[in-house]
Amino acid sequence: MTAAATYDLGKLHGGLRLPGEKEASTARHVQTATVPPQLFIPLTQHVGEAAQPVIDIGEAVLKGQLIATAYGSLSAPIHAPTSGKVVAIEPWPVSQRHGETGPCIVLESDGEDVAFRYENRPLRYESMAPDDLLQTILDGGIVGLGGAVFPTAQKLMQAVTAPLTHLILNGVECEPYISCDDMLMREQAAEVLGGAQILMHALGLGNCFIAVESDKPDAIHGLATALGELDDKRIVLKQVPTIYPSGGEDQLVQLVTNLEVPSGGLPTDVGCVVQNVGTAAAIYRWIHDGEPLISRITTVTGDGVVSPVNVEARIGTPVSELIAIAGGYTERASQMIVGGPMTGKSVTTDRVPLVKASNCILVLSDVIPPDDEKPCIRCGECALVCPIQLQPQQLYWFACSDNEKQLRAHGLTDCIECGCCDLVCPSHIPLTADFRQAKARMREMADEKARAERARLRFEARSARLQQEQAERERQLAGQKQAALRAGPDAIREILDRNRDKNRQDDEA
Ligand code: SF4
Ligand code: SF4
Repeated sequence: MTAAATYDLGKLHGGLRLPGEKEASTARHVQTATVPPQLFIPLTQHVGEAAQPVIDIGEAVLKGQLIATAYGSLSAPIHAPTSGKVVAIEPWPVSQRHGETGPCIVLESDGEDVAFRYENRPLRYESMAPDDLLQTILDGGIVGLGGAVFPTAQKLMQAVTAPLTHLILNGVECEPYISCDDMLMREQAAEVLGGAQILMHALGLGNCFIAVESDKPDAIHGLATALGELDDKRIVLKQVPTIYPSGGEDQLVQLVTNLEVPSGGLPTDVGCVVQNVGTAAAIYRWIHDGEPLISRITTVTGDGVVSPVNVEARIGTPVSELIAIAGGYTERASQMIVGGPMTGKSVTTDRVPLVKASNCILVLSDVIPPDDEKPCIRCGECALVCPIQLQPQQLYWFACSDNEKQLRAHGLTDCIECGCCDLVCPSHIPLTADFRQAKARMREMADEKARAERARLRFEARSARLQQEQAERERQLAGQKQAALRAGPDAIREILDRNRDKNRQDDEA
């Protein structure tokens, strides 16, 4: 039996219909990369604090074994992608937003790929309390694989504090070139559905929409067939239009449920939790098979590689190995981006490793240098395409003048950095880059304010403590003076000396 998919175009403000450029990478099945001799595993692969290594250099580890533990309230653990020996913990080029190098665990493969055995798999999650299930998901090192890399368990733990009505799995891969989720839904649909069932239990929800773009018939077919076999009426496929950026969380909530996430709010404000389909499949593998997040599918594509393809590879695999699976570079290859052309980040070396966030390795040839920036002509094109209904041209003025108050008032913090405004701007103003920098400055200023506030509170607490101690000493001194008056002048001198010494020590502290 094949489950029917509902079809709903929904309403989305702005956005752009962009050329997909996905045919080449979806022409073949997902290829499995062999485990490379050395893997480079960054300690920061998620939003939040870096994970802390729990292994020593020279230590042997098994595939799936914990090698770095979550640190702080927002973090995710990291597991060994294969069995072997830890040979270094050192800086290495990485493709992440905070800089060019980052601390990595370097793991030398032993070629055996022997797995660490987690007990009681498959876990009978249906009989687990949701809190215990969420804690278990945390232990699997699962992060949002749609690009946000927010630690999944912590997102779910926050979500369950709100009244929830809908779980939405995001299979909308609207950015050109990227096709890893499309291939996952075609070839591993049962794992996506298994993840949906686990998530529903963890969140206490009885329904789940899986959103897929209407131009992905093979993914819809894969999911519908697997859903027919599973026969779980709680899960419903929902087609959405192929408009960039319909895969943004807030946009997707609106397309699927017609509910609008308030400015500055979260999907949970309207009862929704959004998770990427890849994240759901990763949760299934961890809960069912005991395999933490140690691999992912990534799209290796662009006219700078010979044979675009989707590859399932271990986290930490150097990108150069993935390029080889795509037939190597073409002669004209000139630029590499990790991520898609709209939101990805340029990298200058293929030594960077595959990380949990790497949904695409895009290699382009003959990249045309951007046209010279010209003054804004107030044409309003940028506002027409902004999916958040912001006024990018106004934000641009306020960003240029560093006017934080007006930037906040005009909703800069709601900007999802989709890049639509850049693409249509006839003056070639790099609006998104300007907004990104303005947001970073605002974050720095907020951090600075928070630091100053903490210092002020510390100073006030210390002053209050010193005043209290001084008052206590004076009380004691008064009592001692009374006693000394009764005992004679030598005793008075001794007390005064002792008190002077104590005051000096306090001043020095
Ligand atoms: S980058 Fe920001 S301002 Fe520009 S279109 Fe996207 S959401 Fe709107
Ligand atoms: S599209 Fe460019 S030129 Fe037109 S209003 Fe926006 S910023 Fe100005």
